Amino acid sequence: MFCKKVNGNSGFVKPLLLIISVLFTNVSFAYSNVNGSVNESVNGSANTSQAFNFFNTAVLPGTKENFRIDIPKGAQDLATFIPVTVVHGAKKGPVLAIVAGVHGYEYTSIIAVNKWIAALEPAQMNGSIIIVRVAHVSAFEERSVYVNPYDRKNLNRSFPGKEQGTQTERIAWAISENVVAKADFLIDLHSGDGGEWLAPFVGVYGGPLASNFPLALSVAEAFNFSNIVRYKMNTQQQIDTRRSLNRQGVAEKIPTILVEIGENGSKDKRQVNAMVNGLDNSLAVLGITNLDEGKLAKTSKRQKTQYFDGTRSVPVEQSGLWFPKDMSGKHFKKGDLLGELKDYFGNTLELILAPSDGFALYGLDGPAIKKGQSIMTIATPVAKF
Ligand SMILES: [Zn+2]
Repeated sequence: MFCKKVNGNSGFVKPLLLIISVLFTNVSFAYSNVNGSVNESVNGSANTSQAFNFFNTAVLPGTKENFRIDIPKGAQDLATFIPVTVVHGAKKGPVLAIVAGVHGYEYTSIIAVNKWIAALEPAQMNGSIIIVRVAHVSAFEERSVYVNPYDRKNLNRSFPGKEQGTQTERIAWAISENVVAKADFLIDLHSGDGGEWLAPFVGVYGGPLASNFPLALSVAEAFNFSNIVRYKMNTQQQIDTRRSLNRQGVAEKIPTILVEIGENGSKDKRQVNAMVNGLDNSLAVLGITNLDEGKLAKTSKRQKTQYFDGTRSVPVEQSGLWFPKDMSGKHFKKGDLLGELKDYFGNTLELILAPSDGFALYGLDGPAIKKGQSIMTIATPVAKF
């Protein structure tokens, strides 16, 4: 078990069991305070923020603090941790949660937040940002695509998690309780994972069970990506079935967006910078920074936005080798060829045709494919929402 003590703070780490039991009793040793705070001067106006309490550490107005949320060893698997930075503005404002690295091989988000946090100036900010720098450290360290290397679970299908579950479930639980539950807005950062192609897009949660769709859409548009997809949350079952992090945001009744750029473990600087610019712009839309609209518009050349309402998948019925046509970011018609599925001896099993008109949002790059997996996620174009 990790035990860090830095800057005189009590850095003892107790098992999650204890962490949880003390969360509601105002006594906690649940974190390790890693680096020192950035002690910038604090504005003394009436609008001045109070200290932000994270794991019973007071993060002072106008400062950043790093935390290491320790996830203790479970019955069947190892301990791990979650690196988090809390940035607390000098003035009052909303609490924004940003989560990178739910999938440990999706590097764009992990590199982007690393770069972005270093440039933030809390003395100039209103409100607070809780940033999970790498949500799934064990998957990251083992370069594991989709799933945890120990329990083989997908973190993004494991929310809200379990206090006493497997490692993935314990990570999900810690993020649900300590990050999502404290936030007023959630930004969930992803890419195409290993073996996936992807057209950059921002997903926005709407429909009767989502909160403040107009605000979520404004933040999504501020990313200036060319594609925006609305996910309508119509039933509780949609939110609860194999719950993702973004659906955890919906369940917590906070406006939520999903940001997707990069593919197959890429580290492309333009894509990293696009994510960084989008995060900067989102702070302005949320009023956390005071960047005015004019400057917001100038920060990046406005892209033409395509809107989509919902997605569908295209699962295959046999395992084998998948040879996709290059469809990424293209519109197609029902019946167009999407690629060829072959058996392990080179024989064609099936030519996969588009089941409907649509737009190629993301999919599997091949050749590996298993029965039941989806070769492509198709987005449905709409004129506007
Ligand atoms: Zn992902």
